[in-house]
Amino acid sequence: MTTSADPTTRAPWTDQIFVGGRFQPPAAAGTQLSYEKATGEPLGSVGVGDADDVAAAAEAARVAQVGWAALPPVARAAALRRVHARLLARSDEVAEAIQRETGGIRFKAELEIRLALAHLEQAAALATRPLGHEATSILPGRKNFVNHVPLGVVGIITPWNLPLSLAFSPTAPALALGNTVVLKPAPHTPISGGLLIADLFREADVPPGVFNVVPGGDVVGAALVEHPDVDMIRFTGSTEVGRHIARSAGGRLQRVSLELGGNAALVVLDDADPEVASMVGAWSSFHFQGQTCITAGRHIVLRAVADAYIEMLTRRAKRLVVGDPMRGDVDMGPMIDTRQLERAHGLLRASVDMGATVVEGGTYDGLFYRPTVVTGVTPDMPVFREEVFGPIAPIVVVDTEEEALALTNATAYGLSNAVMTSNPWRGLRFAEQVHSGMVHVNDTTCLSEATIPFGGWGDSSLGVPTGGDANIEQYTERRWISVQEQPPQYRY
Ligand code: NAD
Repeated sequence: MTTSADPTTRAPWTDQIFVGGRFQPPAAAGTQLSYEKATGEPLGSVGVGDADDVAAAAEAARVAQVGWAALPPVARAAALRRVHARLLARSDEVAEAIQRETGGIRFKAELEIRLALAHLEQAAALATRPLGHEATSILPGRKNFVNHVPLGVVGIITPWNLPLSLAFSPTAPALALGNTVVLKPAPHTPISGGLLIADLFREADVPPGVFNVVPGGDVVGAALVEHPDVDMIRFTGSTEVGRHIARSAGGRLQRVSLELGGNAALVVLDDADPEVASMVGAWSSFHFQGQTCITAGRHIVLRAVADAYIEMLTRRAKRLVVGDPMRGDVDMGPMIDTRQLERAHGLLRASVDMGATVVEGGTYDGLFYRPTVVTGVTPDMPVFREEVFGPIAPIVVVDTEEEALALTNATAYGLSNAVMTSNPWRGLRFAEQVHSGMVHVNDTTCLSEATIPFGGWGDSSLGVPTGGDANIEQYTERRWISVQEQPPQYRY
């Protein structure tokens, strides 16, 4: 990866944004350093846009959309396959960028790349799939056709935690279906979540203006949401910002799709093997430092297996190595920034003040937070009630399956949950009563597949999920065309 410490090579995106198929300086020449989270070292300087850059990107996307949608679907599919080939060819460099910018371990970066590749494969297939249908009519002699038509320009706003996969999961299907895209990556990840992706599109000879990237913060995000040339906003991020965007877009009757926060429960029933459950529990709470929307922020354990579960989860947490993912074989890297670390730690401290006990972890060195197991937790404690977004596993012990179910559902969020049991049918019955968009039996809360719609209920989402067949609903409008062989006779 090109860093500012290496003056001989300069990344094509240095101090640039990506508009109309080329890297160019932003209108007001704003720049921002992107940092390696584990060391604080600068990785490179990128362009930061403003409202004028958003307008230029939206204009480029608007102009390109007509020709892009008119291409034969096989040509759009071929373009997406070329991007796929470039991502595969540069996967080492991309993985390194994700690791450095997010502080994730190699495994997490490779997972993101595999997901992004799968989204591109699915999208290439989607582009050539016959869409729409002929529908019956109430009148003789009339033919009805229901077509799917691209929306136009899709504005995509992403968070920092899964910068690559959360950019590709909406971008690939939106493009496949004939839309063009303006992407705004998060300020923590302008390279792996934006400009490096732009470079893949450039190398893949995707027509200019089809994919544009304007890095920046809330000002650029708000400008994208408010721009009249942007027909839809696909936002992934916090519930708080999502609500703000929904209000703004709602006033203009603009289509929005929001994937927001969560507070997943991992339920351990009394017939579960505590050893296996603790493995799944550790992965669900500690992987990527607990910084995903589907991280298990609540462990709800039946009393019969609680002691064994707590002991085994604690043992696993103790074993985990926390350190710099680029300079050692570690299980967990740094948290994204001090603000996020202090927020998570504050929620833990407040819960300890209310009577919770930290049995493992609860300490940190710089941004490196130890995996933490907390017991004596009650449902009203902040560490259980709120989305912590850190490697903290709060455990609530309950007496019955009914209590476990009620507690699982006692949250405004509804993204992902999971249940561990030795009886998959019991697990299925439990899952069928859980109020969330995703429920997994005998697996982690942290699952995502490109072929399955990913989305939540309640405060976790608004609109159609992304993935699988839901992408057609998500990124197209329906148009009813009727054809009469002979115009009918009307009263006047
Ligand atoms: P965030 O909401 O702070 O920021 C997300 C994006 O929105 C960033 O690009 C940010 O610059 C932009 N933004 C901020 N204010 C804006 C505004 N007023 N108008 C337009 N854009 C604005 O979230 P984050 O801290 O980057 O990510 C963590 C959050 O994302 C967590 O709550 C997590 O649960 C959620 N998340 C959800 C999913 C999902 O699929 N449901 C996936 C990953 C992360």
